[in-house]
Amino acid sequence: MTTYDWIVIGGGITGSALAYELSTKSLKVLLLEKDIQADNATVYSYGGLAYWSGTTPLTRQLGQEGIELHRNLATELDADTEFCELDLLLTVNADNNPAIIAKNFKQFAIQPEILNTQEACQLEPLLNHKAISGVLKLPHGQVNAQKTALAYQQALTRNNGIIKYENVTDFVRQQNEIQGVITTDNTYHAANTVVCAGGLTHSLLKKSGIPSKTYFTHAQVIKTAPIDLKLNSIIMPAIQERFILEDTGKDLEEKSAWEYPDNEIVKSILDAGAVQLDDRSLFLGQISTIITNPHYTPDIAKAEQQIRQSIAQILPELANIPGTCHHCLVAFNTEKIATIGNLSNLQGIYLFSGFTSTIVFAPPLAKRFANWVAGETEPIIEQLNL
Ligand SMILES: Cc1cc2nc3c(=O)[nH]c(=O)nc-3n(C[C@H](O)[C@H](O)[C@H](O)COP(=O)(O)OP(=O)(O)OC[C@H]3O[C@@H](n4cnc5c(N)ncnc54)[C@H](O)[C@@H]3O)c2cc1C
Repeated sequence: MTTYDWIVIGGGITGSALAYELSTKSLKVLLLEKDIQADNATVYSYGGLAYWSGTTPLTRQLGQEGIELHRNLATELDADTEFCELDLLLTVNADNNPAIIAKNFKQFAIQPEILNTQEACQLEPLLNHKAISGVLKLPHGQVNAQKTALAYQQALTRNNGIIKYENVTDFVRQQNEIQGVITTDNTYHAANTVVCAGGLTHSLLKKSGIPSKTYFTHAQVIKTAPIDLKLNSIIMPAIQERFILEDTGKDLEEKSAWEYPDNEIVKSILDAGAVQLDDRSLFLGQISTIITNPHYTPDIAKAEQQIRQSIAQILPELANIPGTCHHCLVAFNTEKIATIGNLSNLQGIYLFSGFTSTIVFAPPLAKRFANWVAGETEPIIEQLNL
């Protein structure tokens, strides 16, 4: 019987980065992913690197570490991540004042530049000058999140890590020690298991009687075919309701609503945004909804119509580009920047999930997590540890 040093559950960006980093410590790693064809938050991610958005010494340090890591990641992994540095243009509605909205950004590590409508449309001619009073411009980074996850997975296999496509349904448990996992096909043993199952982290743990404070939103986004038009920047609204939505998660936690999943829509918001990938396809989004049932199926046709209507206001030429609307779960947590570390009442099981700014924070934290389990002093992981 093979016993792994580490089993990593989930092949999104968090699990792929962590599995690779653990494999660099000469640990025997098994990555378990349920889907051969990935259909997760990483696939539909804008891949934005909001390294400017740190508000505390910790998030400012991680933002800086994250962007530096991404600048060198393609070389380290020997695969293209489509990393680039570009402007983030945060649109301010015609009835708001950009200077007043910019005051909300005072706590961030890097302050936005305020551009009037004419300056904004010079930078991004696809913007509708009638819909905005200006934009806030910030330096941003972008990767293709799915290609980055695949690059980590390829590097993992070069380090003798193993990837298997099986659905983890339970844990091998001896009293208060987790000794591996049970999948639909097999049982695997490991000294340590780490859960990186994204929006399904909560339900996987809950099914096994393990409480966690990692929750999820339901997101909907349109992926278009490649187009001839070129978007110069990432476009998002200056007032992003997604972050306000995640605060609702905290109220639900207090009411224990996550323990009784049903299809009640607690809150749904739409942040009109657009990003373009290297092949010139676009993501147009995004709707985020809190519904405590992870298996809820949204009305995709309605979501597509709503997204296109709001894109028509800001970026009219992009509103009717053919594309398909997709749905996925996005993990978040209500307390820290991520749910990381070992569960206090159980041995052999760790969490690495529920990140904010996942694409910029998860890679440096995966590196630090691997250092920590290899015995190095890692005050940041100790600080975040559950
Ligand atoms: C439209 C959109 C735009 C976004 N834009 C940004 C952005 O610009 N910047 C940013 O930082 N973040 C962004 N995000 C958020 C970010 O993409 C996600 O937080 C991140 O991709 C989540 O990665 P993950 O590994 O935690 O989860 P996922 O990518 O969801 O991966 C989890 C994996 O676990 C697998 N899994 C689950 N349960 C099991 C099981 N029982 N057994 C085996 N496998 C299992 C799933 O199949 C899945 O592949 C965006 C998200 C969306 C939807």
